[in-house]
Amino acid sequence: MSDSSSSQQTGSPLTVACPQCRTPVVWSPESTFRPFCSKRCHLLDLGAWADESHRIAGETAMDETSIDEMVARMERDLNQQ
Ligand SMILES: [Zn+2]
Repeated sequence: MSDSSSSQQTGSPLTVACPQCRTPVVWSPESTFRPFCSKRCHLLDLGAWADESHRIAGETAMDETSIDEMVARMERDLNQQ
């Protein structure tokens, strides 16, 4: 029991799986792009997020009018309670 708990601290350095390609990345200051294995994977992930947010922003036509409407509805609900 004591063996299993101590082996985590004295064993090999902590590694994480790259979120993009699942390559094991050593969690150390030298791994600049951790948790990503490389700059490429880091950029790919950023690109995926940007792509997604762009797509969502384009699909949901959330203009100021609908936001005003939503706020007005929330205020009405609050007043009723
Ligand atoms: Zn990677």
